[in-house]
Amino acid sequence: MIYLDHSSTTPVDKRVFEAMEPFLTSLFGNPSSIYRAGQDVRKAVEDSREKVARLLGAKPTEIIFTSGGTESNNTAIKGVAGSKGSGHIITSAIEHPAVLKVVKWLEKHGFHATYLEVGSDGIVDPDDVRKAIRKDTILITVMHANNEVGTIQPIEEIARIAHENGIIFHTDAVQTAGKIRIDVNKMGIDLLSLSGHKFYGPKGIGCLYLRKGVRIEPFMHGGHQEWGKRAGTENVAGIVGIGKAAEIAMEEMGTEATRLKSLRDRLEAGIAERISDVLFNGHPDKRLYSICNVCVKYVEGEAMLLNLDFHGIAASSGSACTSGSLEPSHVLLAMGISPEIAHGSLRFSLGRGNTEEDIDRVLEILPPIVAKLREMSAFPRQSM
Ligand SMILES: *Cc1c(COP(=O)(O)O)cnc(C)c1O
Repeated sequence: MIYLDHSSTTPVDKRVFEAMEPFLTSLFGNPSSIYRAGQDVRKAVEDSREKVARLLGAKPTEIIFTSGGTESNNTAIKGVAGSKGSGHIITSAIEHPAVLKVVKWLEKHGFHATYLEVGSDGIVDPDDVRKAIRKDTILITVMHANNEVGTIQPIEEIARIAHENGIIFHTDAVQTAGKIRIDVNKMGIDLLSLSGHKFYGPKGIGCLYLRKGVRIEPFMHGGHQEWGKRAGTENVAGIVGIGKAAEIAMEEMGTEATRLKSLRDRLEAGIAERISDVLFNGHPDKRLYSICNVCVKYVEGEAMLLNLDFHGIAASSGSACTSGSLEPSHVLLAMGISPEIAHGSLRFSLGRGNTEEDIDRVLEILPPIVAKLREMSAFPRQSM
């Protein structure tokens, strides 16, 4: 299989698995126990917290382990809302559902919200953030990089605007953590979500960065774990795994970025050269180096995916057809792309295992698939 869907999930790095294994077998103690077998495990949890903190330029005491990106976003947004009791939240129209649906839920429970529009490049205009601020705005949450098109938001500027107005700033950094440098202090981030399985750690583990002094209502109630901010016995193996993944990312981020960007550019140049009527989505430069999102006109994204899968190539589509809905991607629609064109989107997201041969194989396989599908296409071309 040629795996080009790293923005959906990544394989666990072998080094991560090896670090985790003892904590699934012999080192099974509860980190809250006072005897030796518990305290050895406690030390592993705290070492891992330090590694994740280093990835973000944070202090270990500001890292809370959660079950993933979704829980981190829920904890951050509902947590701030809960501590304030009422108010207005600003977010963007292109957030992941793990932000959008949380804000929508809060709207049903008395909170107010503004969903900022984006430009055709997928970027939120900081001026729009400024204009959306109200007296009762309690939180601004804008993602770092978008999971479908990879556009990177000017979060440093948005955070500055938030703080000038005494507002808390949260970012969903699930797509960028371990891929590009993040410094929570330099960038002015108060809360940040990340997820292990998006950067070669295991599934079911994530972190919430919570700046010292920022108050949230806990999302999980129970024991005293994670300073009472996230109850429940720690997912020790997962925590050790995400720590190792963070350590590896710190070391390899730079060289991997250069390598993957060159592969991604090769893929885009090859598609542009071999297939007519395509539209590349996202900002040309302010974009994650690993993502290629392209709309192939007059074809359905899902049909291309099924044909690629037949040839052993795994990619995804911005179109939500695959999940049973006929709605095209909310991200592409927000960028002003017509529903007809948005239906023909493909997302290739590159990662550690990919080689130049993988890219060349896609460039060999995809053009004839498109040609075949266009031949059978039911889309009336003249209407586009
Ligand atoms: C994958 C993803 C999430 C969800 O993370 P999980 O760990 O799978 O819950 C949230 N936000 C973004 C941007 C993502 O890409």
